[in-house]
Amino acid sequence: MKKRLIVSIGFLLVGLFGCSTQDEETINKSEEPLKVVTTIAQIADAVENIGGEHVDVTSLMGPGVDPHLYNAVQGDIQTLDQADIIFYNGLHLEGQMGEIFEQMEQDKTTTPVSENIPESKLLSDPESPTITDPHVWFDISMWSYSVEAVRDDLINIDPDNEESYSQNAADYLAELEALDIYAKERFEEIPEESRVLVTAHDAFNYFGKAYGFEVVGLQGLSTESDYSVNDVQKIIDLLIDRNVKGVFVESSVSDRSINAVVEGAKEAGHDVSIGGELYSDAMGEAGTEEGTYAGMFKHNVDTIVEALK
Ligand code: ZN
Repeated sequence: MKKRLIVSIGFLLVGLFGCSTQDEETINKSEEPLKVVTTIAQIADAVENIGGEHVDVTSLMGPGVDPHLYNAVQGDIQTLDQADIIFYNGLHLEGQMGEIFEQMEQDKTTTPVSENIPESKLLSDPESPTITDPHVWFDISMWSYSVEAVRDDLINIDPDNEESYSQNAADYLAELEALDIYAKERFEEIPEESRVLVTAHDAFNYFGKAYGFEVVGLQGLSTESDYSVNDVQKIIDLLIDRNVKGVFVESSVSDRSINAVVEGAKEAGHDVSIGGELYSDAMGEAGTEEGTYAGMFKHNVDTIVEALK
């Protein structure tokens, strides 16, 4: 009798233990969101839209942060360590962090989202042709490759939710395409000769190529480089020559260089104003319209049109 009881309890315990382990595994597989870490918020926006409830996204670089100069802090290393997937832009945008990503690559999915963009579409730095321009998110047709890279990695690591990722990505890409059409229509309001975009650093080359602007950045592709008096004078001449009314500051770059252009133009008798602040390498505050990719892009389009038309 006693023996039978012990055996029964034993079975009962095995039953309970076995059952609860199995349940936990099932729950983990289907409901625990993937931990995704991105560098710039533009990538985080794509992950959030495609991943929805299946992802928990952390963007290391917030509003106003310059990715060229960004250095990982201790908390970042821990965040990256705990991630299931890491997405970064690549093409040396995240200058200081390249080595960290190379190390992380050995034990988890670590993807430069620019990797699928055809090489023929990439632009190089006119001053040093071996350097590729990393600011690919301002040409929607190019950024779509990065969005697809995010989608494909999420599906690879979590195939159970493939349908959801595919559908969300299709919706997101359709939203971006509508934005592309909106931009092209609005830019028609600017006289063709005045489609000149002067900014603090060269973040808008892909944008210029896509939408027909001549683009001049005072500081080159990276904010690490400086500018000369000669650079400022060349830009002032261009503004006068093309009758351009506005120049732009960037949310993540000092406005010192752009102010020098405005002052210099005034001295030369040409009235140029600061046409507003553009989002270049960083987006706006989370929770605001400009804190989303679409909202940031639209803000830039509207700001440029109002200043230059
Ligand atoms: Zn930049």
